[in-house]
Amino acid sequence: MSELLTRTDRGLYCEAGDFYIDPWGPVERAVVTHAHADHARRGMGAYLTVPEGEPVLRPRMGAEAKIDTVPYGEPITINGVRVSLHPAGHILGSAQVRVEHRGEVWCVSGDYKLGSDRTCATFEPVPCHTFITESTFGLPVYRWAPQEEVFAQLNDWWATNRADGKVSVLFAYALGKAQRLLAGADASIGPIYGHGAVQVCNEGYRRAGIELPPCEYAGRGERGKDWDGALVVAPPGARGTPWLRKFRNYSTAFASGWMLVRGQRRRRAVDRGFVMSDHADWPGLLQTIADTGCERCLITHGSRRVLERYLNEETNVSAAQLDTWFEGESDDRGEEADAEMADAGNEGASNE
Ligand SMILES: [Zn+2]
Ligand SMILES: [Zn+2]
Repeated sequence: MSELLTRTDRGLYCEAGDFYIDPWGPVERAVVTHAHADHARRGMGAYLTVPEGEPVLRPRMGAEAKIDTVPYGEPITINGVRVSLHPAGHILGSAQVRVEHRGEVWCVSGDYKLGSDRTCATFEPVPCHTFITESTFGLPVYRWAPQEEVFAQLNDWWATNRADGKVSVLFAYALGKAQRLLAGADASIGPIYGHGAVQVCNEGYRRAGIELPPCEYAGRGERGKDWDGALVVAPPGARGTPWLRKFRNYSTAFASGWMLVRGQRRRRAVDRGFVMSDHADWPGLLQTIADTGCERCLITHGSRRVLERYLNEETNVSAAQLDTWFEGESDDRGEEADAEMADAGNEGASNE
């Protein structure tokens, strides 16, 4: 059987249509699921994304990059292959890629999460024969609480710090997570500041029409400025850097799905962990796979073996692992961290 998509040394390739999905080597035509660094890389001849993805993809791919857009759900034809992008609910502009050729349908999920998120379009399952899913959090232990609960915890933490005369420094991935948290922050508690890496991404969100609370740039220097009671959102890479010193009396927190595991929090060396992920949890993965009605599931990222075995033993879906460039990146640290490291100095990514 010839496969509609195959893994090549430059990434996932559609031979019939002569295009790649999230390629990791230079190619002419790249369909990208989203702007995170392990999915969208510089140097491609052309990129295809949705219109709301362009403002966040552009700063990462460079001013010269050729970026074409097609709205969610609107099919286009590439060399006789029907291609459409569908909401993945992961970050602004994130998409699943549906590929159809001679009656056969594949869907590549990229990264995805279920449920509402005010900062991006809500995930929609795509009926397909073969579903290529991520499994970043593909273990039964991963189950997310409703985001309202996490926002309430976050705002409580901030208000308590403010009452204690402390600055609240919240570490979160600059693209996606930071904006989701800002959208859930109660701006009546106090002023909000952003690290430069966060500010760049905020700008992209605002250009795409996503409303965020006022967030001022927490630049360097600013001697004598009174930061008391502020919320400062910064990428994980800013942890332990001189940039933090100006806040003097502060409490730190990290928002990530990994905070569910206690050892992670300790190794992160933050005061507080908030369990919030932009990836599907275990029930979300299983529900999605069932919702696609797929016959076959190929699994990339993360805890692939457990999900593979579960699907093969407990469902009618035949599952296999698909090796990708993400090999060894079993989490959303590496993927979302590296671009931020460049902005924030060089700490944090390599120590776990
Ligand atoms: Zn991602
Ligand atoms: Zn990813």
